[in-house]
Amino acid sequence: MPLDASRTDSGDAMTGGTVLLLIILGGALIYAARVMKRRRRRAALMAAPLDERRRAIIAQRIPLYRKIPLYLRSRLDGLINRFLDEITFVGRDGFDVTEETRVVIAAQACLLIMNRPDRWFPTLKSVIVYPAPFKSKAKKFDGFVERGETSVHSGESWKRGPVVLAWDRAAYGALVDDDGHNVVIHEFAHQLDEATGVSDGAPLLDKDQSAARWGRVFQASYERLRRNVQTGRPAVFDAYGASAPAEFFAVAVETFFEKPQAMKAEEPQVYEELTLYFGFDPARW
Ligand SMILES: [Zn+2]
Repeated sequence: MPLDASRTDSGDAMTGGTVLLLIILGGALIYAARVMKRRRRRAALMAAPLDERRRAIIAQRIPLYRKIPLYLRSRLDGLINRFLDEITFVGRDGFDVTEETRVVIAAQACLLIMNRPDRWFPTLKSVIVYPAPFKSKAKKFDGFVERGETSVHSGESWKRGPVVLAWDRAAYGALVDDDGHNVVIHEFAHQLDEATGVSDGAPLLDKDQSAARWGRVFQASYERLRRNVQTGRPAVFDAYGASAPAEFFAVAVETFFEKPQAMKAEEPQVYEELTLYFGFDPARW
């Protein structure tokens, strides 16, 4: 009997071990299958052209799109498809999120990553949309503050959280693409900056870029803007950029897209750094 008992124990132990191994293996296979499926889905979305409806919305609402070189436009189209597939849009204050809302926001956000295949908004899951500038009581966020009303915002970007936007400002920013202001570009620049875990105006750079040079160039330009704001001297960058290095980066990115010629003339080094970072030169468009 003891012998038999010992055999039984050994058999049970082997069976238990095998079952555990099978569970782990099964789990790994399911995970691998999911990853493969997601990769295939993304590849298909990236390769697909925009459908007619999305194309029409962009043609009507985002004049900048027409200026973008063709080779970049096809990549942008794929990114818009992916963004609309993966990011959830939520309306607040009774705002009804439509395909138009989604496309206008997605297209502007994806401008920032259209020539860097490895870049994405890694922690973003959702975009919250208000009909108009909204009041926010949170103190931690890094917002685009409305002049004179510090608690009213047209956009916010939360670290490891959503982007929050006022639809009227997001739509206006898309339509008027040469006034240096674009709340969607501003907030998604914050998302890129915050992907490092710190919101300091120093995003993860392209491999060919020098972090030391970036730091030197941005610091000097930031201090120049602060002096200009103090003395009332006009500058290509909006005065809001003088409030913090993270805001300076977001404002510089807005200016890069909206006033590239003027920025290149006035702040050539910051312009050059952003050209390297994004992988294109809007002054040529
Ligand atoms: Zn900001």
